[in-house]
Amino acid sequence: MSYARVLCVGLVGVTGHLVEVEADLAPGLPAVVISGLPDTALHEARDRVRAAVVNSGQRWPNRRITLNLLPATLPKFGSAFDLAIAVALLGGSGELPLAPLDGVVILGELGLDGTVRPVRGVLPMAAAAARAGVERVIVPTANSAEAAVVPGLRVRGVDTLHRLIAFVRDGAPLIEPPTHVPAPATSGPDLAEVAGQGLGRRALEVAAAGGHHLALIGPPGAGKTMLAERLPSILPELDDDAALEVTALHSIAGLLPAEGGLLRRPPFQAPHHTATIPAIVGGGPGLARPGAISLAHRGVLFLDEAPEFSRAALEALRQPLEHGRVHLARSRGGAEYPAQAQLVIAANPCPCANPAGDDRCECPPQARRRYLARLSGPLLDRIDLQVRLLPMRAAELMEAGTQESSTAVAARVVAARAAAADRWSALGRRLNAEVPGTRLRRPPWQLPAADTAELRARLDSGSLSARGFDRVIRLAWTIADLDGRARPDRHDVGEAIHLRTGEAI
Ligand SMILES: [Zn+2]
Repeated sequence: MSYARVLCVGLVGVTGHLVEVEADLAPGLPAVVISGLPDTALHEARDRVRAAVVNSGQRWPNRRITLNLLPATLPKFGSAFDLAIAVALLGGSGELPLAPLDGVVILGELGLDGTVRPVRGVLPMAAAAARAGVERVIVPTANSAEAAVVPGLRVRGVDTLHRLIAFVRDGAPLIEPPTHVPAPATSGPDLAEVAGQGLGRRALEVAAAGGHHLALIGPPGAGKTMLAERLPSILPELDDDAALEVTALHSIAGLLPAEGGLLRRPPFQAPHHTATIPAIVGGGPGLARPGAISLAHRGVLFLDEAPEFSRAALEALRQPLEHGRVHLARSRGGAEYPAQAQLVIAANPCPCANPAGDDRCECPPQARRRYLARLSGPLLDRIDLQVRLLPMRAAELMEAGTQESSTAVAARVVAARAAAADRWSALGRRLNAEVPGTRLRRPPWQLPAADTAELRARLDSGSLSARGFDRVIRLAWTIADLDGRARPDRHDVGEAIHLRTGEAI
């Protein structure tokens, strides 16, 4: 036999597509030709596969070898095709009887010595295989735990090409994936550890309940980071679909913990203000790496010291935040990753970052305005909640450990979200933050004039913009949901105004 065919999976964005690797060996001048839209890594595969085959004690067929990856129209990135190419080639040369690999998807990169190296994106690849009706996959041992997350799939790990050859020839065993032991749900930072900060805690709870983006403005040491890090702890756990989606993105980034299992907690990403644009929105050669905004999908993206980020980086976030997706331009076909993250930004009130806050700041008012204005266009436009935190006082520090825990707050958040989802289901929305202002200003959702009197006065005097008006109303709905009331009243609107004291920026 001089022809063989092996199954593999290629990724476009987070979507996997079944790929057939065909090998045809014909008499003629020894050569290897790869066709089917290969990227550079695939061309390098030729050299890796040759070395791995020879160093695994196999004869390299001195014939004209044609490798074809189907469908040809599908762009193919990365090194996950190596192992399938090696097996197809050995099958085509007649060295290896491929019947035991019938209907099996094979994924893995080869080292020159024949070791099988882990690859990024095994989880979405395995999930795609299962969707296509495949029942068995063979993956690098280091990736077997993540592949095993896919229901109904029989996963085996392989550490060397030699082991795979021994399995095909003699039925020698492959490596079983490790048994997953779920981590305790209570791990991670908890709101019980946050001392004082009544306003900050309330803002965090409202942000979680309504899905509102949040800006925390305050001097160093005001607890901005501490609060932001605890937002995931009061968000609902990810359901099965969301967990699979989030875990797949972390798989493509090569960031999954070795112990396997689905990521159930909403993720938290905090890129540094010096982070590059690809690190924030995604990119890189080969299989594009998801950036922080996609790794924060269905979780929290935290920008600490937000005015210190470059304008280009903040600009780059605008589209993804608006559309919930990132589109990465590639030379051959674009990649798209989901990016529905809840944004939390933290900023010092001024460039001097005086820990005592406004009292001790000697920056000219102009410098202060300019500093926060860096955030204005791209980001603040989208942020409903802007609170100013005060320096933490010693008295508040004494309260440590006496605060409500994340579990208690999370229970109110879940109830509030359920009420909102129920109310907006006819509009196809789930969260208050998603409801357009025009809807909220019209019946049946319009609030009675008496309840919005102060708000309208602020609008008339110019101290509140039309957008700001809508944001306050949105927040008022969330506050009512948290208190279990069907509609916001005057007091809810009052608190909502209070939660937007950052209006000046
Ligand atoms: Zn200052």
